[in-house]
Amino acid sequence: MKIEFVNLSRQYQAYHQYIDLQIQKTLTQSSFIMGEQVKALEKELQVYTKSPYVVACSSGTDALLLSLMTLGVQKGDEVITTPFSFFASSEVIAFLGARPVFVDIDEKTYNIDPLLIEEKITPRTKAILPVSLFGQVCDMDEINALALSYGLSVIEDASQSFGALYKQRKSCSLSELATTSFFPSKPLGCYGDGGAVFCQKEEHAQKISSLIKHGQTKRYEHRYIGLNARLDTIQAGVLLAKLPFLDDELKRRQEIAQYYSQNLKNCVVPMVSQDRESVFAQYSIRVQNRDQLISKLQELGIPTAVHYPIPLHLQEAFSYLGYRLGDFPVSERVSKEILSLPMSAFLLQEEQEYIIDHFNFLNS
Ligand SMILES: *Cc1c(COP(=O)(O)O)cnc(C)c1O
Repeated sequence: MKIEFVNLSRQYQAYHQYIDLQIQKTLTQSSFIMGEQVKALEKELQVYTKSPYVVACSSGTDALLLSLMTLGVQKGDEVITTPFSFFASSEVIAFLGARPVFVDIDEKTYNIDPLLIEEKITPRTKAILPVSLFGQVCDMDEINALALSYGLSVIEDASQSFGALYKQRKSCSLSELATTSFFPSKPLGCYGDGGAVFCQKEEHAQKISSLIKHGQTKRYEHRYIGLNARLDTIQAGVLLAKLPFLDDELKRRQEIAQYYSQNLKNCVVPMVSQDRESVFAQYSIRVQNRDQLISKLQELGIPTAVHYPIPLHLQEAFSYLGYRLGDFPVSERVSKEILSLPMSAFLLQEEQEYIIDHFNFLNS
């Protein structure tokens, strides 16, 4: 058997008539930049998440950058975030000349530990940027309360948690700003790069709408130094075609995750808090003999991935921040043991059985 880590071709086969129709519409109208599907998508995302304002943009990374830019984050500022994430969530802070200030994670959820945040707040702190990792929303109430009492902004990096629930509310609607990514393998993916920013305040949405087109307010009138960070019309069309199927896909992902967790042996399976529903952007377990398992599973046609092997404070690009091995022990331990298994709504039952049987045999 040869299993795909994320099976995007089966998904395309299932919805191809809707996707092809949307793409064809853009080709026929030749409205490649800021065509009508972009506005239509923003409206659908707004309805889906119940976030007051949504601006579609060019990627999850740019969505984060735009959020920090609209808050005016700059050189000398600090932003509190997690060291256990994809590089982009801290990269954007550093890109603007600000300092990522790391706080270790909760060993059960792998999200930033809210109890450790307060001691890292200084007069230079501008925002808290938690990441809802692997599809589970972080402790937003605790983080928002802390931010409110210190007058800080909160940006939820919901690149992996679009569609996830937190106390019956949707990820992306829970804080002053939130961002997501439509990278093809994310829970809601397009066919290239794409992203969105979710705002509670109209002024933020207006500024971001302008920042994505070189800070223009009107054609050739530039209020800000901005970016070229628009979402392509074709990508908006792909997302409009896929969005109606998302909830069914998320249900299926949750069933697959539950079946893994009930049957996998000798490993730490994901823990989802009672008051939330994960979308399982990754199904990640923890094992002791990771390297050996990875190569044996690979030989059997079972791909795996490590999210993430090096915590951000130990990345070469961040060496100037002065962090050292041992600074964030939970992130460091988890990064040595974490292992993601194939996950997509189109993973077949027989494929999952094959993965579980071979994993348990190799890991016994
Ligand atoms: C994927 C991802 C991003 C970046 O999104 P892109 O669309 O690839 O730029 C940022 N943060 C997290 C946590 C991600 O998983």
